[in-house]
Amino acid sequence: MKLIIAEKPSLAANISNSIGQMKRKDGYYEGQDYIVTWVFGHLFSLCDIEKYTGTPEDGRWTLNNLPCFPEKFMFELKKGKNKETDPGVKKQFDTISRLCSREDVDTIVNAGDADREGEIIIRLCVENALKSSKSLKRLWLPDQTTETILEGLGDMKDETEYDNLADEGFARTYIDWLYGVNLTRYATLKTGTLMRVGRVIVPIVKAIYDRDMAIKNFVKDIYYALVSKTDIDGVELELTSKHKFDKNDLDRAQRSCNVLNANPGIVTEVKKKKDTLSPGKLYSLSKLQNVLGKKYKMSMDESLKIVQELYEKGYVTYPRTNSEYLATAEQGKIKEIIGLVAKMGYPVEFKNKKTIFDDSKIESHSALTPTRKIPGKEALNEKETIVYKTILRRFVAVFCSEECVTHKTEITIDASGKEQYTVKGMVISEPGWTKYDDYSKKDKILPPLNKGDEVKLNFVPTEKETSPPKHYTIETLNNYLKNPFREEKANIETEDDAEEYKAMFEGLELGTEATRTGIIGNAQKSRYIELKKDVYYILPDGIKLIESVERMHISMDKYKTANLGKALKQVFRGEITVNDSVELAKKEISDVFVKHQYSEAEDLDDGFMGDVIGKCPLCDGEIRRTSFGYGCSMYRDNNCRFSVNNVICGRVIPKSAVEKLISLGKTQKLKGFVSPKSGKSFDAYLKLEEGRTIFDFND
Ligand SMILES: [Zn+2]
Repeated sequence: MKLIIAEKPSLAANISNSIGQMKRKDGYYEGQDYIVTWVFGHLFSLCDIEKYTGTPEDGRWTLNNLPCFPEKFMFELKKGKNKETDPGVKKQFDTISRLCSREDVDTIVNAGDADREGEIIIRLCVENALKSSKSLKRLWLPDQTTETILEGLGDMKDETEYDNLADEGFARTYIDWLYGVNLTRYATLKTGTLMRVGRVIVPIVKAIYDRDMAIKNFVKDIYYALVSKTDIDGVELELTSKHKFDKNDLDRAQRSCNVLNANPGIVTEVKKKKDTLSPGKLYSLSKLQNVLGKKYKMSMDESLKIVQELYEKGYVTYPRTNSEYLATAEQGKIKEIIGLVAKMGYPVEFKNKKTIFDDSKIESHSALTPTRKIPGKEALNEKETIVYKTILRRFVAVFCSEECVTHKTEITIDASGKEQYTVKGMVISEPGWTKYDDYSKKDKILPPLNKGDEVKLNFVPTEKETSPPKHYTIETLNNYLKNPFREEKANIETEDDAEEYKAMFEGLELGTEATRTGIIGNAQKSRYIELKKDVYYILPDGIKLIESVERMHISMDKYKTANLGKALKQVFRGEITVNDSVELAKKEISDVFVKHQYSEAEDLDDGFMGDVIGKCPLCDGEIRRTSFGYGCSMYRDNNCRFSVNNVICGRVIPKSAVEKLISLGKTQKLKGFVSPKSGKSFDAYLKLEEGRTIFDFND
């Protein structure tokens, strides 16, 4: 008897239906040769700091147990809201334990989702439930159709073949815990506001923060471009000179125009070329999310939820994939799907091309495609239909038997030998696959010119503005996170993608296809960023997070995060151990705590929430470190308003300065204030005058 443990109840139901003739029991299905049970995602989570350090578990955080680097990480059954073990989780785990120890069960099958997270979800469960040794197998499912499930059951590998994947999963879990728990507690204690610090969330929020600040601080500049517009048989020909002129140089710009306009331009060359336009590649998750965001304003959360549902119903392949390619081993299956899609009335045929099938561009999952299960007319709701059709149409475009034929035209015009202009245009003459899927090329229409034709030139100085950077959209943020070390380009679809896959497989990306949606969702829920239509904006709490993290010298930039990502990939390839990667993370975190002590010497330490600084100069109260700076404890009782911000003109006001201010009326000289108006830095004392804190520039 084989015991299959599925990652979700819906998968367990699909497996049991595929096997057939199984009876539903309490918490599992049972048949002739198989028992199928399930978990609900993670049943286990890592223990809290208190468990390792023996500090009281009263929910209060303290600096005394930070940083915490457990010698051995421990897992416990997941807790509910009341900090007690979740009863539903406990019951299901007991069921699994009982099934694992049944004498007739000789093999236990890991049917977690086909990724590192799914791998360790079931492993943790089996490790904790299994008391004796049994044969361990892995059921790896690229989709949830009956055919694929039955094929998968007939071709199960030993669980040990997935040890590296599990190691990567555990390493990621440990590292994220070390970062998240230690630094979240530290930053929260320091600022008095809950700060969600994490390995991936901080660089994501920082990217949006940096962009929005660049837009806010952008000063636009006006310049003159030289533009000529000529009407030729009702079609406008627009030419732009290479030369640009400063806004104070209108006269020179006009003189240049006069020189260019003196003689007509001559058409020196007309190139016409028949060409074909290739469709886009099959979708990875983020490329699909980009399209759904841009076209239908669907958030990443929403599109993932819908595509996940389509997967659970068996209509599409495993969605959390980073590849836009298919495996050569899948060609037989794809031929069957093409047959089914053809029956729906689409002109499709099998093609064996490197732009479709490329094993070197697949890590563990291939691109999203329809499956052998085609939904009936009424099977999908409106949104599911949009997502399914988007995936299906791309599949049709890629395997379309009709080519998209275009005519490209390139016209070169010479202006008296002084400048040459080349204009390009394209006309689609046979639509082919573009009937089914979008294409991104602009087809500019050109006038019918021939070699030797004269074109009247009408150059005029035209005022242009330098434009600020653009806010991140779902698409541009995704592209950035996939490869944060490449400069942003408008259209990466048409470029060679070798670099992108190399970066991804090396672990340089921020987050992964499987985790990014959730982390961005958390940043939105925490009110660090917001999404309006398909555009991301930083929120005040996000600004506070980034500025606080920087002030505390917590360096969580893309370089650090990518370094850890690289280490995780090395674990996956078996080049380093889980422990090696954990040590790397520990070192980074230790640096933060060491730097904290260093910064005290540097006169930048503004203490922790609740620190008592001294007596209030206005009343009997105590001055304490608060969430915004330093304030009087008699704020409520006595309505005392005495307070000092902990950051003034871009400079941290250290505890030691406030001590002097309230006892002596004047601080030591503080260096490095920055004037918000001029941006210039200056040094000054702070002194008390009639209960207010003011700058004093007298030595
Ligand atoms: Zn007071």
